[in-house]
Amino acid sequence: VQWHTLSAAERAAALACRDPKARFTKQETTGIEWARWSWNPVMGCEHNCSYCYARDLALLGQAQGVLAYQVAFAPALQASRLRAPATTVVPADASDDMGWKNVFTCSMADRFGRWVPRAWIEAVLAEVRANPQWNFLFLTKFPLRYAEFEFPDNAWLGTTVDAQARIANAASSAPPWPGGSGRCAGSG
Ligand code: SF4
Repeated sequence: VQWHTLSAAERAAALACRDPKARFTKQETTGIEWARWSWNPVMGCEHNCSYCYARDLALLGQAQGVLAYQVAFAPALQASRLRAPATTVVPADASDDMGWKNVFTCSMADRFGRWVPRAWIEAVLAEVRANPQWNFLFLTKFPLRYAEFEFPDNAWLGTTVDAQARIANAASSAPPWPGGSGRCAGSG
């Protein structure tokens, strides 16, 4: 079902569809030491990068019949996961290793892509504000859209620079953004 075809009531119902058992996904490898958790309340992307590992995973998941990947890599809200920041417990290891407090948010999407409905982004940011015990790391290839939102201090914003042509775009969207400290989560 396309988001833009839903009525206001249907959209509200979709956003309220929370799973109390939702949890962050723990990174089982040490490849991303700066964030030991991932959280994907929004999935899918339309940038169509040739090197995209997330798209490969989504297509594999669809082929295996995984419910979350039934639309493969088309942009989709996974509202059932919105409770995860409140239900996942910060581990004791976080006092020595900041990575255990950091959540790579929407690692299977570009959550600030032009196509992402504002309501999806606001729903995620509401959970970020409500859960200051975590740091939420965002990366996007469209950082200009950061300027449309208010961010709390536990939202760490970054942009991905994978080509010379994106440098000017990244530089023009440099912090401070309105309403937030605009800490940079990095680029790559
Ligand atoms: S921006 Fe990221 S998620 Fe989107 S296609 Fe490119 S690599 Fe994949």
